[in-house]
Amino acid sequence: MSSSRLCFVLPCYNEEKALAFTLEKITARFQSLVREKRIAKESAILFVDDGSTDRTWDILKEASRTHPSIIAIKLSRNCGHQNALLAGLTEAYRLGFDAVISMDADLQDDIEVIGDFIKKYQEGYDIVYGVRSDRSTDSFFKRETALAFYNLMRLFGVPLVHNHADYRLMSHRAIGALLSFPERNLFLRGLVPLLGFPSTEVYYKRLERVAGETKYPLKKMIAFALNGITSFSIQPIRLVTFTGFAVFVMSFVILLYALVEKMAGKTVSGWTSLMFSLWFLGGLVLVALGIIGEYIGRIYIEVKQRPLFFIERREGTLFQERKDG
Ligand code: UDP
Ligand code: MG
Repeated sequence: MSSSRLCFVLPCYNEEKALAFTLEKITARFQSLVREKRIAKESAILFVDDGSTDRTWDILKEASRTHPSIIAIKLSRNCGHQNALLAGLTEAYRLGFDAVISMDADLQDDIEVIGDFIKKYQEGYDIVYGVRSDRSTDSFFKRETALAFYNLMRLFGVPLVHNHADYRLMSHRAIGALLSFPERNLFLRGLVPLLGFPSTEVYYKRLERVAGETKYPLKKMIAFALNGITSFSIQPIRLVTFTGFAVFVMSFVILLYALVEKMAGKTVSGWTSLMFSLWFLGGLVLVALGIIGEYIGRIYIEVKQRPLFFIERREGTLFQERKDG
């Protein structure tokens, strides 16, 4: 099999401290892959500058001049990791690469396993997830919050690959499918499993950040998790409905209790009916809110206009020319 044209995509935000190391490492890896004929020499390394305010863009511009395989795009402002990544994927798709491997610019994701990614791709997988087998280099805090994140996501029914961040290989057609999602609220990690297509996992050990600071402080992590839940799940609305029902049922228990108290003569006048109406109406209002919420949830799902299916293969003479589409 002739080797494929691959594109590495690395979003960068204020990474001037890490870039020197990253550039050196990634170009060396790139050249060895080309030498071993595992990727075509027309492959590329694409950096996306996500509106950095430091010297990131100057460094990238310079690198693209000295290395013919390095290309760089600059976003007009800081659009966030997910959008920067999508910009890179879109660009790589437009340039017609056979497959893309996305990774962080701090090279925390071990580039030694790229060989495994490519092997899986050549075995016919469209999507290869890089999965962390070991988080020992992360701080205790990062590890625990990440675990809580995955558990929360599972609870709300968001389809996630456990311990997979955005280190993954995607074939041209998988990216094409991903790009056909018109939604604005992008949560790539949740969307990619929705694509279907043959997928597999490759395990690696997550390394320490080489230089600079994390661009994902707690505030961004919480926003990220909330985005994941709200763009994939209408469970929170259902929670309102369930609470409503529980309160509603509870109101009858309260009624019973209030009547017993009244009969025992322990109450002041008006307490019984007040007590009951409080719970009864509260439950009713919550149920009503939940029902309205269900409709809003439906509307939300509709407005996303997600594609309903992707065709993986076509068979038969009529399709001859598009056999592998
Ligand atoms: N990043 C980005 N835009 C942002 C924040 C981060 O492009 O607004 C990039 C960043 O340069 C890095 C990747 O996203 O390449 C992951 O960020 P980071 O390493 O800081 O996250 P962590 O590994 O700490 O979760
Ligand atoms: Mg990092």
